[in-house]
Amino acid sequence: MNTENLPTSCTRQKILQDVEVLIDLSGMVWPRYYKTKEQYAKELDGAAKELEDFLRDHRSQDRIGLDVRRKYLDICSACQSEWEEDVVEGKKYCANCGAMVEDEKHYANSL
Ligand SMILES: [Zn+2]
Repeated sequence: MNTENLPTSCTRQKILQDVEVLIDLSGMVWPRYYKTKEQYAKELDGAAKELEDFLRDHRSQDRIGLDVRRKYLDICSACQSEWEEDVVEGKKYCANCGAMVEDEKHYANSL
């Protein structure tokens, strides 16, 4: 393996990996009424469609809570792999690319 161009140091970085909006309809459908998870899922499909129709047709004054969920991931700044470190003789290295981990004081400010 050619190691000449590999980075020699890295830092842990926090990135926004994914974002989703979750609407929980479980309060509209009682799971115990359905024999299988698939039947329950189909009932939730129907509840989701009803909600879509409702939102399209109404200017509701009711409070609707929508939860935007962010999923963060720590990655290595050198190789972009998910963060995992090895400690060898008291020094930290990226478990994926082997770059030595620099002072982590930048981590808190990386977002
Ligand atoms: Zn790395």
